[in-house]
Amino acid sequence: SVSVTLEHVTKRFKDVKGKSDVIAVNDSNLVIQPGELVTLLGPSGCGKTTTLRMIAGFELPSEGKIFIGNEEVTMLPPNKRDTATMFQSYGLFPHMTVFDNVAYGLKLRKVPVEEIKVRVEETLAMVGLADYGDRAPSKLSGGQQQRVALARSLIVAPSVLLLDEPLSNLDALLREQMRVEIRKIQKTLGITAVYVTHDRVEAMSLSDRVVVMKNGFVRQIGAPSEIYEAPNSRFVAGFVGKATFFPVKVKNHDGKLWTCILGDKEVVASQAGENVAVGDEAVLMARPESLRVVEPGKGHIEGTVRMNVYLGNSLEAFINTSFGEVLVQIDDPHAKKVYPEGAKISIDFAPDRVRLLENN
Ligand code: ADP
Ligand code: MG
Repeated sequence: SVSVTLEHVTKRFKDVKGKSDVIAVNDSNLVIQPGELVTLLGPSGCGKTTTLRMIAGFELPSEGKIFIGNEEVTMLPPNKRDTATMFQSYGLFPHMTVFDNVAYGLKLRKVPVEEIKVRVEETLAMVGLADYGDRAPSKLSGGQQQRVALARSLIVAPSVLLLDEPLSNLDALLREQMRVEIRKIQKTLGITAVYVTHDRVEAMSLSDRVVVMKNGFVRQIGAPSEIYEAPNSRFVAGFVGKATFFPVKVKNHDGKLWTCILGDKEVVASQAGENVAVGDEAVLMARPESLRVVEPGKGHIEGTVRMNVYLGNSLEAFINTSFGEVLVQIDDPHAKKVYPEGAKISIDFAPDRVRLLENN
């Protein structure tokens, strides 16, 4: 398999009136390793699809270079690139059988009929549709149609597979199944893949690395555990998981610990994002599982339990405090010490479980 490299890639569009420029992708730098699955994650309009379309060749960069392996492909048309793209609207040909839909790319490439037959059967088996070759797409469920679309992308044995929100038309359960299946197939084939989604659960569970984007900018690149546990900004922290952000002023950094002012109290954190300095107005980020609820007066912040939400394997407590609502996860919903709604409590945070971040 091959790598994919973006060097200082920028894409500008004219706005609808053809006047000012929309900067859809802003100086993006990215190296995707051979066989890696990288997700582009971010809110709608942040430039994910545009990035993918530039890798595929459907859109040309305004500036910068794109490489597939060692070959520069920046200005090459899609059919001259060794990529296959799977879109959200899978666009199967309704008048063709499943077999012919999947065979289509090979026929275009004038592959001999016998070989086509073998490869279509192999690929349909890979996506779990071995016996469906003769069906019309309209006789398949949404999930099965999605598999046909996947088979159609995979059959040309591309070096790079590009997927743009491929599961967003499916219901929750099917999405989860297909997600696991796509990942298995991608790993088995060792194919390099770029996967676009705005769904953080999908990104976290599927990827070797996640690229978090906002307003055309890459905000952070890292393994799922890295962006969840060590986000570099409030935006990334909030986009990839649940968190409470406490507004603080950074008072001191002794090389190890950061001392912050929270209301009229001092609190201490042992981790911080790279862009934080003494004197800043920043936020202290706490994941729900990093906080503990204790007896009133025993923790750092006083509060009242507003609502407990039972989640089966855990419980989420929404706590009212003078810093706004705080979310705390209680691991054992059957623990003796679950404070009922209305109870006065205190929230305790350990310095090594909270993270100081820029408020941006
Ligand atoms: P995402 O996939 O993350 O939702 P897109 O890459 O589709 O975002 O779009 C990024 C920005 O570029 C948006 O502001 C969008 O309106 C703009 N954009 C995308 N395609 C075009 C286009 N063909 N012409 C003008 N603006 C576009
Ligand atoms: Mg998009």
